[in-house]
Amino acid sequence: MGKGDRHPKKDVEAALKRAEACGLKVLHKQNGHNWGYLICCPCSESVRISCTPRSAGTEAKSIDEFTRDHRGHV
Ligand SMILES: [Zn+2]
Repeated sequence: MGKGDRHPKKDVEAALKRAEACGLKVLHKQNGHNWGYLICCPCSESVRISCTPRSAGTEAKSIDEFTRDHRGHV
């Protein structure tokens, strides 16, 4: 992620950093309530990241789950 691509919720931001550290791609593409995507390039799967999640903890958990499922693919 480049400068200015930080997620406003620190729990989500931390999960995105963990995902990046595992080689997954974080795409910041702001569009309304949509913050961007977390992408596993080898299998083209992605998860949408909300800018205003109802629960930052739940959003972070789903990012961590995606990371755990795909960390071996990159
Ligand atoms: Zn994958």
